[in-house]
Amino acid sequence: MPRVIVIGAGAAGSMAAIFAARGGAETVLLEGSVDGGRKILISGGGRCNILPMVVDESRYVTDSSPNVMRKMLRAWPVLEQRAFFEDDLGIPLAEEHESNKLFPVSNKARDVRDGLLHAAKSAGVRVLHDHRVVSFAQVAKGWDVTLANGESLHCDRLVVASGGLSVPATGSDGAGLAMLERLGYELHPRYAALTPITAAPSDYTELSGLSLTVTITAKSGRACTRRGIQRFVDGTVDAVARCRLGGAVKATGRAHRERRRSRRVAGPVGCCADCGCGS
Ligand SMILES: Cc1cc2nc3c(=O)[nH]c(=O)nc-3n(C[C@H](O)[C@H](O)[C@H](O)COP(=O)(O)OP(=O)(O)OC[C@H]3O[C@@H](n4cnc5c(N)ncnc54)[C@H](O)[C@@H]3O)c2cc1C
Repeated sequence: MPRVIVIGAGAAGSMAAIFAARGGAETVLLEGSVDGGRKILISGGGRCNILPMVVDESRYVTDSSPNVMRKMLRAWPVLEQRAFFEDDLGIPLAEEHESNKLFPVSNKARDVRDGLLHAAKSAGVRVLHDHRVVSFAQVAKGWDVTLANGESLHCDRLVVASGGLSVPATGSDGAGLAMLERLGYELHPRYAALTPITAAPSDYTELSGLSLTVTITAKSGRACTRRGIQRFVDGTVDAVARCRLGGAVKATGRAHRERRRSRRVAGPVGCCADCGCGS
């Protein structure tokens, strides 16, 4: 039986562990924090938007191969994903008509976090909390993984799901990415996908408190338009818009590089006040 170690009990690591174990691997899930999945707890304002109703491939951006991304999106159709959450995990979902998104009926992100970890344990995964990984190295047959407590573990396959750079208080501080880079893996620059879009001075102050259907076009580089319901808070385009505009700003070409160069992105729209990307 192959032995798999997954680093990080967030959304990605829990899913990887569930499917490794269901596929017959002896699976260990190593989590640095005492509980894991803390980013799920804050997702969707504590409600966790699990899925879109419909997957629109044009809304996804990547610095890696668009072809691989397309294959990933098509590999697991959204209806099957919905069935996984509802039937396998026992988390009924409901559509939020305003946004065309699916949330747990309970509106509790905690149900999602707990449901994933419960499914991992039920599939036979050994979930080890408070087990922070400090390094890993490829050896003749598989991988050696070293923990902060000095312990060393061996596996045939290693999954690094230690998260990105956003909200380091949830446990994902970029350490896993640094370990990969030390081994010679080439990583694309990280940038925020979820950013508040601010303008100074703001043209939107008088719109504060309103939610409107608007169309926003980013003009630098490749023009990109997003239409949808946007909420305005103190002259800032708020959370709902961030998701949509994050992709738009990215599509116009490397928001953060532009930001560093000129402090301006996409004409009058500036990025970004508190993206938490750590850059
Ligand atoms: C405010 C906010 C709202 C969001 N809302 C939504 C939403 O509604 N819907 C949605 O789909 N997405 C949402 N997202 C995005 C989503 O939360 C993330 O994409 C997702 O949780 C990332 O999961 P992950 O497993 O890749 O990483 P993480 O959740 O960051 O998990 C990584 C795990 O690895 C652990 N770890 C890190 N380093 C080590 C180490 N060295 N050793 C052991 N363990 C380690 C960490 O403790 C952590 O538990 C939101 C994000 C934010 C910040």
